Amino acid sequence: MTEQTPGAEAETPAVDPRATNLPLDSHLHTDQSFDSQVPIDVYGALAAERGIAELAITDHIDFDPRWLNYNPDFSVREAIVRAAAERWAERGVAIRFGLEVSYESRREDEIREHLQTHAYDFVIGSVHVSIDSPYHASRVRSWVAGRSLDEIVAPSFDEVIAAARSGLFDTIGHLDSIKRYLLPHVAPAQLADRPDLYEAMLVALVESGTGLEVNTSGLRQGTRETYPSPAVVARFRELGGQRITAGSDAHRPSWFAHGLDAAYQIAADAGFDDIAFRRGPGGPVSVGIPDRFRTG
Ligand SMILES: [Zn+2]
Ligand SMILES: [Zn+2]
Repeated sequence: MTEQTPGAEAETPAVDPRATNLPLDSHLHTDQSFDSQVPIDVYGALAAERGIAELAITDHIDFDPRWLNYNPDFSVREAIVRAAAERWAERGVAIRFGLEVSYESRREDEIREHLQTHAYDFVIGSVHVSIDSPYHASRVRSWVAGRSLDEIVAPSFDEVIAAARSGLFDTIGHLDSIKRYLLPHVAPAQLADRPDLYEAMLVALVESGTGLEVNTSGLRQGTRETYPSPAVVARFRELGGQRITAGSDAHRPSWFAHGLDAAYQIAADAGFDDIAFRRGPGGPVSVGIPDRFRTG
């Protein structure tokens, strides 16, 4: 979600010239998300132009009634995405109907109920900075004051663990985007120095069979690194992680597929041969990482 913080994204980063000829961008927001105004056909056209073969449209859904994407109309969203999928299929772009759920453990029953009764092709579960969050711009400064790094990250990381353990999601979005909200009080390097803080999250992902997303939005934000960093992706693999996903999390046309080339490289360097995906009820599928990313 987009908020004005020191980690805010650049208004117009240059189009990433390397983000071409890739099989999949599995995290995109359209004008059906409160924080995006991109008509879905803009992504279709960009994908056709740049050779991105497949897209997952993953607009927000929230279960906090005070939030702006509170349980929006499923049938309207599905109709828009499915109609676009038909239009773009003939131009070589596959568009899937995905979702990014704002996970809150206290609302897990509502989320489960929604996912059991509404069929999406692909579902991302993400821990966002909610209205009550200690990381909200209005209170993050007082939250970090006098606390240890363990205590600072716990509310977010504990929710990520619960999201993974819920077994509800194909992948967990932007695992540690909290780095963005902690700027300038906590530098990404401080978290990089504490890999132990990530261990329980990664174990929860591995044990639940949930995917880990390499989210490239951090590359255009103040953190200047993916969520999570390459070292965390490598550790996930070491621990036995099987499913990696990659998404640009675009909310604007210029962010489409931005940094996605880097995400594929990070996945390949960690030892993954495939990107994990789902195209509806058929279960998980593998999308091969192109040969150009393999050095060995
Ligand atoms: Zn998100
Ligand atoms: Zn997103």
